[in-house]
Amino acid sequence: RQPVLELQNVSVGYDSPAGMVQAVNDVSLKIYENTIVGLIGESGSGKSTLGNAIMHLLKNNAVLTSGTIKVMGRDVYSLTKNELRQFRWSQMAMVFQSAMNALNPVLTVEDQIVDVFLSHDKRMSKQAAKKRARELLEIVSIDPAHLKSYPHELSGGMRQRVVIAIAIALDPKLVIMDEPTTALDVVVQRSILDKIKEIQKIKKFAILFISHDFSLVSELASKVAIMYAGRFIEVTDSQSLMASKAHHPYTEGLIRAIPHLTADEVTIEGIPGNPPNLVELPTGCAYHPRCRYANDLCKRVRPEIRHVENRDIECHLYETVQK
Ligand code: ATP
Ligand code: SF4
Ligand code: MG
Repeated sequence: RQPVLELQNVSVGYDSPAGMVQAVNDVSLKIYENTIVGLIGESGSGKSTLGNAIMHLLKNNAVLTSGTIKVMGRDVYSLTKNELRQFRWSQMAMVFQSAMNALNPVLTVEDQIVDVFLSHDKRMSKQAAKKRARELLEIVSIDPAHLKSYPHELSGGMRQRVVIAIAIALDPKLVIMDEPTTALDVVVQRSILDKIKEIQKIKKFAILFISHDFSLVSELASKVAIMYAGRFIEVTDSQSLMASKAHHPYTEGLIRAIPHLTADEVTIEGIPGNPPNLVELPTGCAYHPRCRYANDLCKRVRPEIRHVENRDIECHLYETVQK
C-alpha cells in the first residue's frame, strides 16, 4: 500500500539573526488514505512549519535541511514549478492557520471558488465552475445564496467552511488542516469538526490535523504524533493515548494538562518550564530540562526512536518510568 504522505527524516531550519532555528528536527511519518492523523504540540513546536514544508510553501528564510517528503509517491521537492502548481490543491491541500481571515476581501465567495477550478483546469467553462462552486457550498452546509457574499458578510464559522470548501475543491488525496477551528467558539467548533469528519468519510482523503488541543485530536484522529521542539517524541494510536497510562513523559504532562472538571471547579496542571530555545537545543534529550525523570544519560545522549508497545517513543527511560 502506498502512503498518501511519507516523511523521511525531515528537518527544516529558519535562518535568523541569532542562528539557525531548528523548527523541524528529523521527523518521519506515513499517512495512508482514509485516515486522520493528529499532530499535537505546544506553540512553537514546529507544527505549522512542517505543514508548510509538505506543501512546499516555506517562508523565504526557511530551508528543508534534510529528508524527503513524498505525497502520493512523488517527491514534492523534485517537482518542477509547473508540476508543483498542478500538484498543489489537486493532490495536496492545506487549510492554513488563520486562513479564514485570509480570504480575499474584494472577491465574492463564488469568485474565489471559481478561481480555484479555472486556474487548475483551463478547459473548464465558467458556467461549469460556478456549478461546482454551488455544489461545494452545499457539501460544507452553506446556503448557496452566500455565493454572492463577500467574506466580511459571513460569520467566522462560515468563512472557515468556505476555506475548507476551497481546500477540498479539487479532491486532493491529502488535506493538511492547521488549527482549523481554534479561533471559533465551542459550538461552531463542534459543528465544523463534525462536518470535517462527514466529508472525510465520503471523500476518503488523508488528513494531517494540526492542533494543540489534546482531547479534540484524540477524538478525531486514529493516530497521533506528539511534537516537542521539532521532533516527534511519541507516535501512537489515539485509542491508547487516552486509555493507557504509559507514555512519553511529555505526553504524560500534556494529558495531565487537560482541564479536569471536578464538581464545579476546573483544575489545570500545566507542564512546568518553557519549551527550549530552538537555536541552541539542550544537549541529550531536548525535554530533559523539564522532565521530572531526567538523569545523567538524558542530559548527555539524545534518545533514539524505539518501537515499544505499539508506539514509537523517544525516551531513554520509557520502560523504567512507566513501571
Ligand atoms: P503554534 O502552535 O503557535 O502555531 P507551531 O507549532 O505551528 O506553533 P511554528 O510556527 O512551526 O510552530 O514555529 C516553529 C518555530 O520556528 C518557532 O520557534 C518559531 O518561532 C520559529 N519560526 C517560525 N517562523 C519563523 C521565521 N519566519 N523565521 C524564524 N523563525 C521562525
Ligand atoms: Fe525525560 Fe530522559 Fe525520557 Fe527525555 S529521555 S523524556 S529526559 S526520561
Ligand atoms: Mg502553527
